[in-house]
Amino acid sequence: MSSIGEFGDYGGQYVPEALMPAIEELTDAYERYVLHNEDGFMDEFRERLKDFGGRPTPLQYADQLSERYDKDVYLKREDLLHGGAHKLNNALGQVLLAKYMGKERIIAETGAGQHGTATAMAAAHLDMPCEIYMGETDIARQRPNVFRMRLNGAEVNPVTTGRGTLKEAISETMRDWAATVERTHYVIGSIVGPAPFPSMVRDFHAVISEEARKQILDTTGDLPDSVMACAGGGSNTMGMFAEFIDDPEVDLVAVEAGGSSLQVDEEEGVAPNSATLSTGEEGVLHGARTKLLQDSDGQIMESHSVSAGLDYAGVGPELAHLVDEDRVIPANVDDDAALEAFHRLSQDEGIIPALETAHAFGYLHAAAVGDHEDNLGDVVVINVSGRGDKDLETVVEETTARDIDAGPEMDLFRQVGRSGGDSM
Ligand SMILES: *Cc1c(COP(=O)(O)O)cnc(C)c1O
Repeated sequence: MSSIGEFGDYGGQYVPEALMPAIEELTDAYERYVLHNEDGFMDEFRERLKDFGGRPTPLQYADQLSERYDKDVYLKREDLLHGGAHKLNNALGQVLLAKYMGKERIIAETGAGQHGTATAMAAAHLDMPCEIYMGETDIARQRPNVFRMRLNGAEVNPVTTGRGTLKEAISETMRDWAATVERTHYVIGSIVGPAPFPSMVRDFHAVISEEARKQILDTTGDLPDSVMACAGGGSNTMGMFAEFIDDPEVDLVAVEAGGSSLQVDEEEGVAPNSATLSTGEEGVLHGARTKLLQDSDGQIMESHSVSAGLDYAGVGPELAHLVDEDRVIPANVDDDAALEAFHRLSQDEGIIPALETAHAFGYLHAAAVGDHEDNLGDVVVINVSGRGDKDLETVVEETTARDIDAGPEMDLFRQVGRSGGDSM
């Protein structure tokens, strides 16, 4: 096995024999096209990110947050990328790579539907047929995203096994891939899976920190004290951290979903959180060794978060390794604090963030108001991984159901929530 995709004890290629030819072919293509820019692949990728995606995204000074917390807070606006989240960087990179490899067909899995919609957009843009595997339960919960994928010409294949969610969708996509490797590329949605996926997905997202590092140096003449992002699988996190890894004076903070509690219910096999970096144990899932939420018998547990995009029992192997090395600081924020941060950012800055993103702002708040030690310093850059339009229904439901601080408009908001909830 090549050293690509080994991060200390984590990473690797734990896949069935039938997939090894595909993995080897992909590793070769990754080295040639991505690492060595063969045939000008990376130039075309960057050109398309600019014209189709809208890059570079701004680095914005957040006036109100900076005043509120007595810090200089800068926002990397990935919510302004086409599609409303960072996910297009990776989807576009992989679909373009599939084209260079001579593949004729794209498949992908999706849970909440965000990765499926990004992949469907990229496939339509590059004129590739696309099929998305999605659990039946998720299809019912995420109808708008199903429409988006179909509007972009993708076929959405319902997965009826198990609980009909992300885990089963991944297995089904792997099965399709094993049977059709010669003409098909599987677009994985985060820095997870067997090598070379974690490294390749990181490299496609590294444009986030390449831009942000230049932008902050141009603006302030200095590096920030800390850089922060929310972490599900960890792709927006690694994209935001990549170019700062070799700047030891910059602290890197990965904020996971603390859910409703960090306490595990062993009997039910449920972790009411997705705080894998803080509470996970080493194991193998979806082709890689990494930190996982598992019980004492090594069974993978169901995870939980109010935000669908963070609700995952694993985490990218590179991120797990950087935490073990003390280069990345793991943090977590619970459902309530994330919801409060969602309302605060919307009201303070006129930016409605994705619920995933709101976790990073929940941590900024907790650090600045002294809920725990403030380890962020004076100049903070936060990755706004996506916009929150997709989450409005969830936010109305969850805010009205909880006793949380949604700011001065809270009462009005609760009224609107009660009367308007059904029609949203
Ligand atoms: C999917 C998603 C995430 C979580 O995925 P990562 O791979 O951890 O980045 C975070 N934010 C938004 C807006 C997302 O859509």
